[in-house]
Amino acid sequence: MRVLLVEDEDGLRKPLAAMLRHQGYEVREAASLDEAWDAFVEAEPDLVSLDIMLPEGEDAGFRFAEELRAAGYEGPILFVTARDAVDDRVRGLDLGGDDYLVKPFNLEEYAARVRALLRRGSPVKKSRFERGPLAVDLAARKVFWQGREVELTGREFALLELLVLNPDRVFTAEELLERLFPGTESGLKIVRVYIHRLRHKLGPEVVATVPGGYRLGVA
Ligand code: CA
Repeated sequence: MRVLLVEDEDGLRKPLAAMLRHQGYEVREAASLDEAWDAFVEAEPDLVSLDIMLPEGEDAGFRFAEELRAAGYEGPILFVTARDAVDDRVRGLDLGGDDYLVKPFNLEEYAARVRALLRRGSPVKKSRFERGPLAVDLAARKVFWQGREVELTGREFALLELLVLNPDRVFTAEELLERLFPGTESGLKIVRVYIHRLRHKLGPEVVATVPGGYRLGVA
């Protein structure tokens, strides 16, 4: 899942971005409205995390939200701000924001809100996926194989989640590389490494190699 993180305070943006990446999200960072537009167009995010006070003005985030909705963006918007006046919250939600988090907040809470918003907007309405020996609790990020819980790293989970959310789709190795490991130097090899790891930790049939790429293998 792709997150656009708009925040001008480096000291907050960097740790948030690091945490989200660690959890397997693809994160684009923007420190101003200007950067945010470019990043939005390039990243096609599934969620926008939006600071309100930006270099372009104390209401810049609100303006951006309005413009995003006008441009047809329908994904969740999470406002993040130091301002906590009730008016602001109401305004943020009126402008099409989905949630509102006031600084300071802890990283865990932020992560929980992001997860909740993405779940709400995800094409799979229920948060539990079961097929054959595989069961995935998408909300709790837990994975079971033949009834036994298996620990996955953030990246491993992100790969499995992508396949589970699109159970009949074939992904090319290039697509997986782009979506899960953007900017990596190691090329397609890293995709094969992670597929190997999923097959090793779960079962060899969890990911099927098919003409054109890979798809969820369990039936
Ligand atoms: Ca700010």
